[in-house]
Amino acid sequence: MKTASDLLTRIPPLFSDLAKILAGEIDCTSLTLSRYGNDGSPYLVMPQAVIFPKNVTDIKHVLSFAREYKMPVTTRGQGASRSGGAIGEGIILDMTRYFSQIRNINMMENTITVDTGVTLNSLLEKLHAWNYDLPLISLGDTSGTVGALVATKSASCSSFHHGTIREWIEGVTVVVDTGEEHHIGDGITPSGRLLGIYQSVFPLLAKEGPVLRASKPLTHDDASGYNVWNTSIGPRQLIDQLVGSEGTLGIITSVTFRITPHKPHQVTTCIPVTDHKLLSVYIDIAKHHKSEGIFMYDQGFMQLADKYYPTVVPYFPDTPYTLLVTHTGTDKEKLHHTVLTFRRSLPISEHFLKTIDDKATLSRIASNEFLLLLGDMYTNSTLAPISVGDGIIVTIPQLSSLLTSLENYLNSLGKLYMITGNAGSGHVSIVTLFDPRSRSYDDDILSYTKQIFTIVKHHNGGISAINGEGLTRAPFLSYAYSDATLLVFKKIKDVWDPLSILNPGKKFGTTTSYLQQHLLRPKREI
Ligand SMILES: Cc1cc2nc3c(=O)[nH]c(=O)nc-3n(C[C@H](O)[C@H](O)[C@H](O)COP(=O)(O)OP(=O)(O)OC[C@H]3O[C@@H](n4cnc5c(N)ncnc54)[C@H](O)[C@@H]3O)c2cc1C
Repeated sequence: MKTASDLLTRIPPLFSDLAKILAGEIDCTSLTLSRYGNDGSPYLVMPQAVIFPKNVTDIKHVLSFAREYKMPVTTRGQGASRSGGAIGEGIILDMTRYFSQIRNINMMENTITVDTGVTLNSLLEKLHAWNYDLPLISLGDTSGTVGALVATKSASCSSFHHGTIREWIEGVTVVVDTGEEHHIGDGITPSGRLLGIYQSVFPLLAKEGPVLRASKPLTHDDASGYNVWNTSIGPRQLIDQLVGSEGTLGIITSVTFRITPHKPHQVTTCIPVTDHKLLSVYIDIAKHHKSEGIFMYDQGFMQLADKYYPTVVPYFPDTPYTLLVTHTGTDKEKLHHTVLTFRRSLPISEHFLKTIDDKATLSRIASNEFLLLLGDMYTNSTLAPISVGDGIIVTIPQLSSLLTSLENYLNSLGKLYMITGNAGSGHVSIVTLFDPRSRSYDDDILSYTKQIFTIVKHHNGGISAINGEGLTRAPFLSYAYSDATLLVFKKIKDVWDPLSILNPGKKFGTTTSYLQQHLLRPKREI
């Protein structure tokens, strides 16, 4: 077990004064730096120090140090977003050790205030025990932390119904570049540095209105770029900019969410989709029948799941996709009636449908761990899952054509791939397995990324519906936005973070050659 003094002895001189004033810990050991140099993305960026801030004063000290030495500060939750958003060349601030409390649940107002490092699993466990829920995350991937949920504008298979995490936020506490902590919420007038930010951003957004209106994403869940489409006067505008900003504008320390009564019962109908074109038909019917979750997976996913976990994932032979439509309720009988009515309205015999009636199975199927585990099992962990295409999003009418184009391209590659997605929002997630020992590994990933995003652009879609841009998608933001819009994003960043110390190079400002230099790969076999 490491003690604080063990770690202090290994602190490089640059950090020694900072280490002395921190209440939390600083760790510069090579083992820790290597561990924090990766976040499941294909890239390795070694930090210089990992800091576990104990309180806001610690964060203030870190930012003061960072401003003095122009050192990047990257905030990190579980480090599991796989997009290169949680890695950086300077200081990593790990929020999970001390920012880990559920602060307050207000049963009159139906809100909960939570520290940024609380994991979604533990938040849901607590909420359900009190008979409350945050339904957006109940039906989604629950592996991350509260801070990352907000910082990546999390979406789930229920976003088409419940909105993204943005719609559930009542307030955010954030530390800005100067080290000041501010609470942002309705009815709170910005002050100090935050007021300065507000007074600079508002006229900028008003002036750039025509540019922004022309580039507004067509889909609700798209988190690419900064969320600058709300020009209404008030604090909500500042919250909007922080949601999905990936730690590039400020460090979130706590969040207040709106919560609702928990619906304990859930039934998922599994529909074999024999033709892409039927996807939009089934999705429309599901929405009409008040479904709260729609998820899909393809034949590749089905085959691997059936091979390794035959009892977990419903399998339909010879069907390109399976659609999982979830209904929830407080009353079991009413729920079964709703599900029955829904099933009878489908243009497919009930005889072909399957059912999942436990929550754990649905959560497992929709989780990123399960998807990646399947790839690992199949290749004995020899191939690298590349998930740069896991945040694609289009409108529902474009979904079938998008899938056809993507499949044509993916099949031409001859690599194993799996497609899943929060289909109710038009979200598509592709994970393709590449060989990191291949001589052309870096070029292969680059041309794969460009080709995928070209197809998405052709369908007027977005590239970051989950996980944010991070490093992996940062060089490709021009596939989603015009140069004029990218310039507005840059100006927003400059207002919030003029010295560019807050997670620089994430969202935009990274080149493909930087990515290639930091590609994580085993030694080549000669
Ligand atoms: C196949 C697959 C499927 C997935 N499905 C979904 C899905 O359906 N919905 C979904 O939302 N996500 C999904 N994810 C993504 C993942 O679960 C989320 O990105 C999750 O939020 C990561 O949490 P984390 O704590 O590990 O974040 P980290 O990797 O630690 O951080 C993610 C980003 O948030 C920033 N950040 C973290 N904490 C803070 C803070 N306190 N202040 C400011 N910035 C901060 C980091 O700097 C980084 O840029 C999926 C991922 C994969 C690979």
